[in-house]
Amino acid sequence: MNGIKNHPAHAIYRSTLSHFNKSLKKLVGVERLAHLELREKINQVTRDYNRARKKKTALEFKNFADLLNLDQVIRYEKSQRGEINKRMIKAREDKLLNQELSATNNNLTLAIAPSSQHQGNITGARFPKGTWALTFDDGPRVKTTTMILDLLEEYGQRADFFWTAQNALKFPALVFRAKHMGMTLANHSYTHFNLPKADAPRLVYEIDQSTTDLEQLYNRKVDFFRLPYGAGMRKPTIRHKITENQMMHVFWNVDGLDWQDKNPASILKRMTLQMKRQGKGIILLHDIHLQSAKAARLLLEYIQEKNRINPDSLRLQTLPEIVDNLNENGEN
Ligand SMILES: [Zn+2]
Repeated sequence: MNGIKNHPAHAIYRSTLSHFNKSLKKLVGVERLAHLELREKINQVTRDYNRARKKKTALEFKNFADLLNLDQVIRYEKSQRGEINKRMIKAREDKLLNQELSATNNNLTLAIAPSSQHQGNITGARFPKGTWALTFDDGPRVKTTTMILDLLEEYGQRADFFWTAQNALKFPALVFRAKHMGMTLANHSYTHFNLPKADAPRLVYEIDQSTTDLEQLYNRKVDFFRLPYGAGMRKPTIRHKITENQMMHVFWNVDGLDWQDKNPASILKRMTLQMKRQGKGIILLHDIHLQSAKAARLLLEYIQEKNRINPDSLRLQTLPEIVDNLNENGEN
């Protein structure tokens, strides 16, 4: 057996481990969860190696494929540093918001409605146990959005689509199909601009103009907005603008990280782990990646199977349904 030091896995192991240890300290929320999950894969490979060395058998690297996959993820991550930083800021905001929410959770009796206060920001925290909204961002894109709509039709489920105006205007046929299937058509800005960096005219374009153009295209009012990268939620100017357009902001509490992970099975695992912890809420995927469409199929299968064993344990509903139910059954 060749020494492990010459094995490509070893170099990957060493560089990834130092990368993880450096970045882990800075991470919170789902980013941290994803990193811990990936680190566990590195440890599996190390255990494989040690086991083989002890038994003096050939090194098989059961988990080597995982590790190479992991290496790709990390290289991608390094090339996307700016994006990662935005996500870390978002995760921090998310954590702060959740702290605030849990502090006020017991006396939240206000109806959910457009507002720059808590009741205008939907996080899933007030959903009944087992209630889930499945949300897709960044589309539409012909191939992958079509796959997802086919899938939802096949499973008799509905989802919420947060599309950028620039994409939706390009593909009206997809918009009409989604509308006729009863999907929620929502707003994800005009061009996916990082809104805290926007000046006043840009903010008008990204929030007011996108709402006007999407409402014309959708031929209905748009009730929900999601900030690109989740960034700007705590900026009053941005939240006021969303409110002025009579929209509620929608966050998420289950993140597939499907934009960086190419493996549908591990995206599913990440989602179901978070779903078990959260018990209810908003699942985030993107309808522009092939792996996301594949992960969505696995998720719908998972939900179907859970409901077969334990009927009605996981209810997929659209955001308008959930908000209406909460407001009708609220204490106010
Ligand atoms: Zn997005």
